[in-house]
Amino acid sequence: MKTIILLGAPGAGKGTIAEGIRSVSPFLHVSTGDMLREAVKNGTAVGRQAESYMKRGELVPDNVIIGIVGERLAQGARDAAYMFDGFPRTLEQARLLDETLTGHDSKVDKVFLLDAPRELLISRLTGRRVCRKCGQGYHLINIPPKCVGVCDICGGELYQRADDSEATILNRLEVYTRQTESLITYYQDKGILIHVDASRQRGETVAEILRVAKPLVGT
Ligand code: AMP
Repeated sequence: MKTIILLGAPGAGKGTIAEGIRSVSPFLHVSTGDMLREAVKNGTAVGRQAESYMKRGELVPDNVIIGIVGERLAQGARDAAYMFDGFPRTLEQARLLDETLTGHDSKVDKVFLLDAPRELLISRLTGRRVCRKCGQGYHLINIPPKCVGVCDICGGELYQRADDSEATILNRLEVYTRQTESLITYYQDKGILIHVDASRQRGETVAEILRVAKPLVGT
């Protein structure tokens, strides 16, 4: 099993970059945010537990997150390569991930920290739109759809995530500083953290990560 992590503030581009990597490599994209949104949409027990935290931009409790990630890893093949996006977000989650991977005779291989200035994070989040049907991401200025409010790929309706409102965005950035930034030191101390400039075009960031990540999976 191989594991890489995309770490970075909301708006750093973790989701888009992960999709760029997934499309040209064997890494499976595991986004806890996407899993939770799906659970909320389907009204599952996890979704009901998570919804109010997500609306406020707060973190969903660790035990819920560990549960969904543990299930996901249990379903995968022993030699799968995972790329986590938005997980771990607390030291507790990072430690439990290490324990789980040790149980599979494995470990986190590399952590890519996506760096971008605060103003860019805010403008990316406020302009973000997502297709309700296929999940394709857009940005009102940077990646506009051909036709306003309509997905280029499937014709679905584009919407703004409830937690992409200005007030919630500021809270999510604050939560990142308070609860997630400590992971930088955690992974730095292990010698596996790599800083990546995520303020550039997506393709450049993806290429830089692939140069390090692809050899892990022998491609
Ligand atoms: P994201 O799509 O990664 O920005 O996540 C959206 C929201 O889902 C976050 O603001 C949290 O409320 C919740 N969430 C996603 N991943 C985690 C995680 N690893 N730990 C706690 N909450 C999470």
